[in-house]
Amino acid sequence: MYALIPVNEPLLNGNELDYVTQCIKTTWISSSGAFIERFEKEWARYCGMKHGIAVCNGTVALDMAVAVFDFPEGSEIILSSFTIISCAQAVVNNECVPVLVDCSPDTWCLDPGQVADKITEKTVAIMPVHIYGHPADMEKILRIANRYHLKVIEDAAESHGAEVQLGRDTQCPSWKRCGGVGDASCFSFFANKIITTGEGGMVLTNSDELAMKLRRHRNLYFGQHQKFLHEKLGGNYRLTNVQAAMGCAQLERIEQFITRKRQMAHRYTKQLSGLPLALPAEKKWAKNVYWMYGVVLEDAIPIDAQKFARLLIKRGVQTRPFFLGMHEQPVFHRMGLFLHEHYPVCERISRRGLYLPSGQAITDEQIDEVCSAIKEIMKPF
Ligand SMILES: *Cc1c(COP(=O)(O)O)cnc(C)c1O
Repeated sequence: MYALIPVNEPLLNGNELDYVTQCIKTTWISSSGAFIERFEKEWARYCGMKHGIAVCNGTVALDMAVAVFDFPEGSEIILSSFTIISCAQAVVNNECVPVLVDCSPDTWCLDPGQVADKITEKTVAIMPVHIYGHPADMEKILRIANRYHLKVIEDAAESHGAEVQLGRDTQCPSWKRCGGVGDASCFSFFANKIITTGEGGMVLTNSDELAMKLRRHRNLYFGQHQKFLHEKLGGNYRLTNVQAAMGCAQLERIEQFITRKRQMAHRYTKQLSGLPLALPAEKKWAKNVYWMYGVVLEDAIPIDAQKFARLLIKRGVQTRPFFLGMHEQPVFHRMGLFLHEHYPVCERISRRGLYLPSGQAITDEQIDEVCSAIKEIMKPF
């Protein structure tokens, strides 16, 4: 038997224990406290946004980000089929309609070239997701959003610290962090994300008004003057000070985590290039943080990702499959959504893609073992 190489294991050996202990010693364990404020401020500043509103997870962050725009019922929001269900669900939960496009074959992010055809008089927003650490093409997305007066809601859950170049065909291009570009942006700090609070999330925005609405929405829309007088329904979506304490400690080390992710990716790429696999891209206008190192089996390989994953697990390598497109989800078909729609790139990578062990705790030797296992499996092909 091989020892299992886990697909993700976080590193919590900085100030995490010390800060969490401080919460317990001082009894600041619920959703107010110094760590919450610090985490919100520092994360917003790191990403280049004015306000941070910490919430209990990334799914809730997306839901709230859609909610606070108060889009009219039936408004359409354009997103890539290739994403987690949290995105499409946030749209549906807010009485809006998700409208899909395919993803780009190289970055696996929303293909901006397909957006214009999907715009109608009901379109209100675009929701790009920075997939597996590579930024979506924000330059093109912003250009479309400006032309058609659409909001941009970024999902940067997988791309902490990734960067994207804006104004790249001008005299002075500038680099922006993912989650620092849209009208609102959403993050998850789940245990497999680049920095983690266990469970957790955040919404960022530069708008004072949206920030105020997000804070109220997070906290049951309590009244401002008379606490128990409610103008709207929100929810209890608060993060705890204990979770934020962990977030503060993780954020202290984010540059180190990103450097390591990039090293890991280079190590994988060096050993896997030349095999019949598509490997993660890094566009000239992008800094990929390689949240997860994804690979896509070329069509010449006679097995799919599921079979490939089974062969890897036999050799002690844990992997995860790629997302299955939103247009292939029975739950949406039952709502009458996406029936008979096809997105060939998404369909292909969802069947032929998987991601390799990429956690902070992985060693170079383990990466080499993963690559050897892949080469061994690939040999007959
Ligand atoms: C992880 C993730 C989410 C959801 O975050 P949770 O904290 O697990 O709810 C949303 N979007 C993307 C792209 C993610 O990877």
